[in-house]
Amino acid sequence: MSEEGYELQYIHEAFETNWIAPLGPNVNEFEKELAAKVGVSHAAALVSGTAAIHLALKAAGVGAGDTVLCQSLTFSASANPIVYQNALPVFIDSDEKTWNMDPALLEEALAQHPHAKAVIVVNLYGLAADLDPIADICKKHGVTLIEDAAESLGTLYKGRYTGTFGDYGVYSFNGNKIITSSGGGMLVSENGEMIEKARFWATQARDKARHYQHSELGFNYRMSNVVAGIGRGQLKVLDRRVARKKEIFDFYKRELEGLEDLSFMPVNDFNEPNCWLTCIQLSGKIRPLDVIEALEADNIESRPIWKPLHLQPFFAGCPCVGGDTARGIFENGLCLPSGTNLSEADLERVTGVIKKLWRAV
Ligand SMILES: *Cc1c(COP(=O)(O)O)cnc(C)c1O
Repeated sequence: MSEEGYELQYIHEAFETNWIAPLGPNVNEFEKELAAKVGVSHAAALVSGTAAIHLALKAAGVGAGDTVLCQSLTFSASANPIVYQNALPVFIDSDEKTWNMDPALLEEALAQHPHAKAVIVVNLYGLAADLDPIADICKKHGVTLIEDAAESLGTLYKGRYTGTFGDYGVYSFNGNKIITSSGGGMLVSENGEMIEKARFWATQARDKARHYQHSELGFNYRMSNVVAGIGRGQLKVLDRRVARKKEIFDFYKRELEGLEDLSFMPVNDFNEPNCWLTCIQLSGKIRPLDVIEALEADNIESRPIWKPLHLQPFFAGCPCVGGDTARGIFENGLCLPSGTNLSEADLERVTGVIKKLWRAV
């Protein structure tokens, strides 16, 4: 929770006005405030980012047997909803320069799968994908673009917030994300009709009738009023949190940049990342696991890079367009501790352990 305690005020309001039940003023306000913050017309507050991806796929008309193209280097939640819809994922390799979907490979994938219904691009670890060419390619081919911005709320691409470049954008407020409502997600779009439709699907697809009538399959995906209250409070501290994440990234960069065979996640000139996590690449004798274990020995948690989805047992057999860039980033990388509650002394402890490893070789 944030330093300022805005959340408690909104939760308090929810209790005082007896809006504990789902829906209520916090939900509507959270949607409006988030939409205004990122500069998009419509937003639907949902129980998770995963639910938002699922409803984006439904909005794109994805159904059984359809093909959906998805970035391979990501968390499984990016692609699981493709399977919820009984559609078929085709994975796309990353571009070394962005760590995200390679636009040239997207072209290649669309040539191989001209009837693909949707494309899911991800802004991994808060690094923007090269979104302009990707959006252009999707437009040219008439395929719906879904931007998974679950990790990139607050990231700018060419001065505009990520999550607003696709036909649909997805944010997550899960516990580990840059801001959190304890759990939740948001689907955003310029298409107000479809966002209204998403709200309808998310509340069990109840037809406008006095009795309970359903003409479509519904879901229980709507964010509750209490959770939205937490989200509203968190949104107020987003900018400060991004600023602190950048300080953490800069600290690591300053302290570790000189170490041999160690490099940082790529920040391009089109990209103003939220630095959700600081990630590094190791190309020498010291391997990511050596660093993870050395930190662990000092009771410090670090994480491997997401394992590409085309290498996951569950997605075995799904095609992947491209080479081994995503695999390389995974095998050579790790995420350093990046919590905004880390003190300078904590950060020095982390870099101290890492530097000691380098001195030992
Ligand atoms: C966290 C995450 C999601 C899912 O969001 P939830 O709110 O946890 O469902 C989707 N995609 C990526 C890349 C994520 O990191």
